[in-house]
Amino acid sequence: METIQLHTKSRPSTVLCGAGALSEAKSFLQGKECFVVTDSNVLRLYADTISQTFPGASVCAVPAGERHKNRCSLFAILDAMLDARLHRSSVVVALGGGVVGDMAGLAAALYMRGTRLVQVPTTLLAQVDSSVGGKTAVDYRGVKNVIGAFYQPERVFCDPLFFRTLPPREIRCGLGEIVKTGVLDPAVGDMIKENKGSLRDLSFLQQLAAACVRFKARVVEEDETERSGLRKCLNLGHTTGHALELMYGRRSHGEYVLIGMWLESHIAEREGVCTPAYAREVRSMIALALPRIPAFPGAAGALRYALLDKKNEGQGTVSMILPKERGAYAELALPADRYAAYLALLEDPCR
Ligand code: ADP
Ligand code: ZN
Repeated sequence: METIQLHTKSRPSTVLCGAGALSEAKSFLQGKECFVVTDSNVLRLYADTISQTFPGASVCAVPAGERHKNRCSLFAILDAMLDARLHRSSVVVALGGGVVGDMAGLAAALYMRGTRLVQVPTTLLAQVDSSVGGKTAVDYRGVKNVIGAFYQPERVFCDPLFFRTLPPREIRCGLGEIVKTGVLDPAVGDMIKENKGSLRDLSFLQQLAAACVRFKARVVEEDETERSGLRKCLNLGHTTGHALELMYGRRSHGEYVLIGMWLESHIAEREGVCTPAYAREVRSMIALALPRIPAFPGAAGALRYALLDKKNEGQGTVSMILPKERGAYAELALPADRYAAYLALLEDPCR
């Protein structure tokens, strides 16, 4: 098991990664009043695990799925917290994927201006990415994560035992952020390249997850609230990925991030941000997780969504984080029409 400390300014956070992390959670929470937030799927699969790990805890299950990441679920959690008469020293335990983590985290930040918070992420995506860093939010009026707060969990317990029940789609979703980290961090990139065949192997994924957390911890420590700009690097692949996700839906977030990185590697190459050889190296890493880039008819139409991205500062330009060279990236703002021309590459990516 690995312990990773986040020396964040608001309050420090400790992440435990590896087999046995859930038992550590049990010891840490023994004797404390716990309030477990989960979703309907996770409760169905892990009801016994939850009652054995957190005996006597109140359990609140929200409906599963991103479309329930809204104020309705948030207030259902807050209502249940009030009904359970939680006080500020009670511990909210977010046990589920990124959606549960975001909503339970926000509820913990709001209730009595802040209760204690522990994350027990159960998806690969949540273990490598969303449970670390203290971002919490719900979607509102069609805008993703528009109501939220930075609120660091005291502890994050990442146990690979939860991977066994994950459907392949959810594994692919986590691979998106893992490959993204591999492009940003040479240590993770080397691990991926040296173990090409093992990206479906759960124990290797667990090692990769820990390496991704180590990288993210360093970034978040330097730039906890996305002010200095360093944390922006985590948006690699996300400008295009989010725009496609908004336009087409259907696939998982991680797949859109992979597709976004694929397109943005071409942009980096053609705009002279990186060498063709490095762009090919990035694409070969993407191919390990997503061997074929699907075609998106009418992809240039995703420009409309890319222009909504909060990274854009100028009018009519699209900003993105591009791979530059091993361990380095660059931010580039492209005029809208030029970006739309690149998007059109996705209409026939095999060309
Ligand atoms: P993500 O973690 O990908 O951001 P969600 O929180 O929506 O997103 O989780 C994705 C889906 O996976 C949800 O339907 C959730 O109920 C389900 N899920 C979460 N953890 C597990 C698990 N360990 N095994 C199977 N399904 C899970
Ligand atoms: Zn992402």
